[in-house]
Amino acid sequence: MIKNLFIIALATAVIAGCSTTGRTGKTAVADPASAKVAATDEEAAATAAAAEKLAAIPCRCDSLGNNSAWVRFLRLPEPLTFQSQFDVLCKSEYPAAVSINGQALKQYKTGIFFSTVSFNEGVNMITAEAVYPDGRRAVCEHAIIYEKRDMSRQPFPLWIEKRSFEPSSDIELLPGEVVKVSFRASKGQVAWLDIKPGRKSIKCLRDDFADYSLYRAEVPVRDFAAGVTHFLSVRLVPEAGGATGVVYRPDLSRTVTVRNPEDFPLVRVKNDYSRLVYNLGAPRLGGPIRAELGPGVVLKTSGRIGASYRIRLSNTESGFISVDDVDFLSGGKMQPVYNVTSMSCGPAAGGDVVTIPYLEPVPYVVYPDPDRKRLVITMFGVESASTWVTHRRGCRMIDKLTWEQTTPETFRVYVNLNTSNIWGYDIRPVGRNLVLSVRYPPVLDLSAEKPFTGLKIAIEAGHGGSNSGAIGLSGLVEKEINLDLSLRLGELCASMGAEVVQVRDSDRDMALLAKRDTAIRSGAHMLISIHANAGGSGYLSVSGTSTYWHNPFWAPLAQAIYERLLETGLGEFGVVGSFNYTVTRASQMPAVLVEQAFMTHAEDEERLADPEFRQLEAEKICQGIIDYLKEIKE
Ligand SMILES: [Zn+2]
Repeated sequence: MIKNLFIIALATAVIAGCSTTGRTGKTAVADPASAKVAATDEEAAATAAAAEKLAAIPCRCDSLGNNSAWVRFLRLPEPLTFQSQFDVLCKSEYPAAVSINGQALKQYKTGIFFSTVSFNEGVNMITAEAVYPDGRRAVCEHAIIYEKRDMSRQPFPLWIEKRSFEPSSDIELLPGEVVKVSFRASKGQVAWLDIKPGRKSIKCLRDDFADYSLYRAEVPVRDFAAGVTHFLSVRLVPEAGGATGVVYRPDLSRTVTVRNPEDFPLVRVKNDYSRLVYNLGAPRLGGPIRAELGPGVVLKTSGRIGASYRIRLSNTESGFISVDDVDFLSGGKMQPVYNVTSMSCGPAAGGDVVTIPYLEPVPYVVYPDPDRKRLVITMFGVESASTWVTHRRGCRMIDKLTWEQTTPETFRVYVNLNTSNIWGYDIRPVGRNLVLSVRYPPVLDLSAEKPFTGLKIAIEAGHGGSNSGAIGLSGLVEKEINLDLSLRLGELCASMGAEVVQVRDSDRDMALLAKRDTAIRSGAHMLISIHANAGGSGYLSVSGTSTYWHNPFWAPLAQAIYERLLETGLGEFGVVGSFNYTVTRASQMPAVLVEQAFMTHAEDEERLADPEFRQLEAEKICQGIIDYLKEIKE
């Protein structure tokens, strides 16, 4: 789906000359601009010298005998490489007898073939050849220079890895907290953390690794005067007997400011779907989400880390929100708190409804708990006086409401359900109430000729427009195969009676939230998101099909589709839970993401490129939906 699931080793300096498919013989010209940025003057000089040397080497990229046969390099090492081998990737017309450096290779239907080429020191020629069934032949040659070099980092001159430095931004804290500082730098030296004002220095602890040391220090901020900005900086001193005796002070500092609780501001959420996250870890797709808050909710801050506020939810719970998602509330405002005296539930059009007084704009979160057949609503800043919980007749999804005061300021409502097989829920403030609706199931007859009659299915073709998604080894484009599969799946579902909503029905740009909104507003009963995966190094490493859910209520749908997709012969990559994809984070309907297979795996890509295989995938996803409907029908 998203290209950086793993770090893809793309050392793809496709340089001019030999790497083209031109008919005439050309001279290799190593383009220094395409080489990776040299770290030092010495390396820059070496790269320039290599380019000059390579420019003098004649090589060719030809159709032999003046015909239209072709072969080309897709991935090559840098003109000057320090790695002794490289996975060279080539492409020609399929079918052909193909080879790299004389070694016959398997060619995939996508035209690609590849080989791990080992280099000798000095100039190396890489030769790719393709012979067509009718005897036409093409050859491509490419020259590189391999230099054996110790790539490990030397301690001198002293250095620090700036991006490893924690804290990674300026921070504001409460008294009594501790700042943890850590960074990677020259192996085996002495590091000091200097704090100004106050002229305080702390010697860092050191752990040695292969070619660096990890330095760490803890700074208790209890001695810092409130409101005074302190500067933290680092000093690296050679260990006794070190080569230079020169102290290194990197241009790197962080500020730490301590504030009393009452000096941290109240803020008000201003954007739709503002993310309140548990922490500021930086996994892909953002930190683990605790809630999406809407405009108007008032929050008490208790710290600031770079561009995020820490939010105090209760005396034991906190979260983080982007500074850009809130407005500063100035002057004398109190943090909102109130008492809940009653609540109720009952049937309504489309679903059962829970109504809880919402007298102040406090933060609230919903925790989905299918194993215990319940939705847990937590409201911060609310005290219960709930001696009056009304249950009206006719609820189909909700059994009963119970509650608990979990801290003096945390009110928790348990919406106990009759079943974990629900069809979605939605919570929002309506006037002076917080209203949760739990949707009724669609009326379906699975034994009918068209078993999807009465079912509305939304399908999201991943990416689109300027966002191509992943690119396969042979050049297959993710957004295109996503759309193709989505349309095939849509047709199949429609033929079985479903009303189909194609969230993206053409090659166009669409924001992720707009995609989710489109599905929700359509009133669909189900959302299937279609993507294809990428990642791993090499061309045969990571493979397989996978499905993803964010809300655990939708795990059975992801599982059912996954089981059927495995019948296509694709390998297992797994059913992935808690997955933070914006589109399928919807609670309003069962929503899952399908990652068809890996476009960066030669065999997977070969399958994905085949329209018949995509038709098979559509059929399997459809069967997975039927399996799910049967499973949850009571
Ligand atoms: Zn994708």
